Amino acid sequence: MTDSNKPLYSLAGKRVWISGHGGMVGSALMRRLQSEDCKILKATSKELDLRRQAEVEAWMEAEKPEAVFLAAATVGGIMANDTRPAEFIYDNLAIEANVIHGAWRSGVEKLLFLSAACVYPREAPQPAPEDCLLTGPLEPTNEMSAIAKIAGIKMCQAYRRQYGCDFISAQPLNMYGPGDNFDPEDSHVVGALLVKAHAAKSEGRPAMTVWGSGKPVREFLYVDDTADALVFLMRHYSDDRPLNIGPGTVLSIRELAETVAKVVGFEGELVFDAAKPDGMPSKTLDAARFAALGWKPTTSLEDGLARAYQWYLENVA
Ligand code: GDP
Repeated sequence: MTDSNKPLYSLAGKRVWISGHGGMVGSALMRRLQSEDCKILKATSKELDLRRQAEVEAWMEAEKPEAVFLAAATVGGIMANDTRPAEFIYDNLAIEANVIHGAWRSGVEKLLFLSAACVYPREAPQPAPEDCLLTGPLEPTNEMSAIAKIAGIKMCQAYRRQYGCDFISAQPLNMYGPGDNFDPEDSHVVGALLVKAHAAKSEGRPAMTVWGSGKPVREFLYVDDTADALVFLMRHYSDDRPLNIGPGTVLSIRELAETVAKVVGFEGELVFDAAKPDGMPSKTLDAARFAALGWKPTTSLEDGLARAYQWYLENVA
C-alpha cells in the first residue's frame, strides 16, 4: 500500500513501543516497522508484567517511548472467552489502565489502542458502524473481552479530553496469519480449522468437525494487512472516535471451513457440532470512514490462509 499523503504524525526517528510484540499482531507490526526509520522498543512478558502498574510506569520512565502500539492483550477464541472470563476482564483492564495511564505520565506523543469488533452490540446493524457502540447488549460469549476493550476506548477518549493526549483507538476485524494461536481448544476459528483440516488430512480421516451451525458470518483480515493499517492510522488519524478497520473478506463459517479445507487439501466431509456455541450471529464492520482515508488491504483470503498454513507447518506442526 502506498502511503504518500503527508502524515499528521511522523514515526521517523521515534522510539516506538510495540506492546505485545510477541503476539500475532505485534509480530506483524515488528515485520511492518522494520522498513521504517524508527527505534523499536519491546519487552517480553517475563521482563515486564503489564498487569503491574509500578513495573509498567518504571519501564516507561526508563525507556521513554514516544509512540505506542497497545497490542498487548489476553486473547482467545469463543471457548477461551467463555470459560476464562475472569482472566479476560482482569488482564485486559489492567494492561490498558497501566499502559494508557503510563503513556500520559511519561509524555508519550501518540498511542494507538487496538480495540476489537466484539465491542459492538450482539444485534448491531451489519456491517456495524462506529456509532452503534454502547447502543445494546453485548454477545455473552465475549462480554468480558468487550467490556475491557470498551474501557480502553473510553480511556483514550478521556485522556484526550482531559489532558490533550493524542491517543486513538481502532477496531480490527477477525485476524489470522503467521503467529496465530493454533491450539484447537483456545484459538480463534481460522487457527483451529487449519489444525483440524491438517490433522484430518494427515490421518486420512473421512470428516472434520466444525463448531456450531456454520451459519454465523465473520469478516477476516490478514494480520500483515492489519499491521499496515495500524501504521497508516498512527500517521493519518487523530480523533476521539474509534475507527473501524477494513474491508476484510465476509463469509459464513461454513464457507470459511470449505475454503480452509481447499487450502489444506482436505477433501472429506464437514460435520457441524451443534453443542458448541455460535457466538455473534454476524460480526462485520462498516469501514467507510477508514476507506475514505485511502487505505486498502492487499492480501486475498486464500493467499492469507495459505501463508498462515505454511507458517503452521514450519513452526507448530
Ligand atoms: P468469535 O468471532 O468471537 O465468535 O470467535 P471465534 O473465532 O472463536 O469463533 C468464530 C465462529 O467460528 C463461532 O461461530 C465458532 O463457533 C465457529 N467455529 C467453528 N469451528 C470452530 C473451531 O474449531 N474453533 C473456534 N474457535 N471457532 C469455531
